[in-house]
Amino acid sequence: MTIQWFPGHMAKAKREVTEKLKLIDIVFELVDARIPLSSRNPLIDEIVANKPRIMLLNKADMADPDVTKQWIAFFATQQIEAIAIDAQSGTGMKQIVAAAKERLRPKFEKMEAKGIKRPRAMRALIVGIPNVGKSTLINRLAGKHIAKTGDKPGVTKAQQWIKVGKELELLDTPGILWPKFEDEEVGYKLATTGAIKDTILNLQDVAVYALRFLTAHYPDRLKERYAFSHIPEDIVQLFDEIGKRRGCLASGGVVDYDKVAELVLRDIRTEKLGRLSFDRL
Ligand code: GDP
Repeated sequence: MTIQWFPGHMAKAKREVTEKLKLIDIVFELVDARIPLSSRNPLIDEIVANKPRIMLLNKADMADPDVTKQWIAFFATQQIEAIAIDAQSGTGMKQIVAAAKERLRPKFEKMEAKGIKRPRAMRALIVGIPNVGKSTLINRLAGKHIAKTGDKPGVTKAQQWIKVGKELELLDTPGILWPKFEDEEVGYKLATTGAIKDTILNLQDVAVYALRFLTAHYPDRLKERYAFSHIPEDIVQLFDEIGKRRGCLASGGVVDYDKVAELVLRDIRTEKLGRLSFDRL
């Protein structure tokens, strides 16, 4: 679906997340490990404010593992605990529960000290931009398919808790936040990774961005995938060469740039160029 985040929608989304925060002990901020900054909500610090928070770098299976390590180290310097996970296969799920437990230990010890014998389960909310994997993570943590994947606008129901073992409970509806729209480069990164629909930005522009990025950061992968001995510096020539090699031709044998753009983005999103990270330190 296409979400149009007008100021009114943003205010509503923020209000909804703020309401949910009242019910929970800890926030799991879900971001895309390939773009851990670009897939963050620009107002997340303000929105979450004083709740304990753990950042989950999802789709780590698709991200460049060295870069992911660098990001985790960077966030640590910002006093943000970050964990690389893969909600689809389930990698990192135990770590999430353990990290939440550790973070909330002081709070629960205080409750115990006050005579509350068996502290209740930790209550958590998953927040993140669309398509970052919130539903997949809820399903994975729940161990069965409770939350439906994909966003269902206009469907509201009472809040429900999903049990994750004995120690954790999740709100069944995640908090949906918006990405940083105003920044053009962020838009291209969101589009390249498939976080926003291809109809939002011009596909050729997105492919130009992606190819320039790959030329700068992953030249060997680009060479290998499209059989270049050297990568053409001129972007039109690069489109032409990829188009000719991969048969992206229109009638009359001229290269069809839309087809090239589609092919390159599909190759990136299906990991034909390997694990890639687009936000770099
Ligand atoms: P939501 O909009 O945040 O709830 O996102 P979804 O849970 O619907 O996931 C969006 C897409 O990302 C789906 O196609 C998922 O299969 C995929 N996805 C979610 N988590 C992962 C992951 O860790 N790795 C990979 N490779 N794909 C994932």
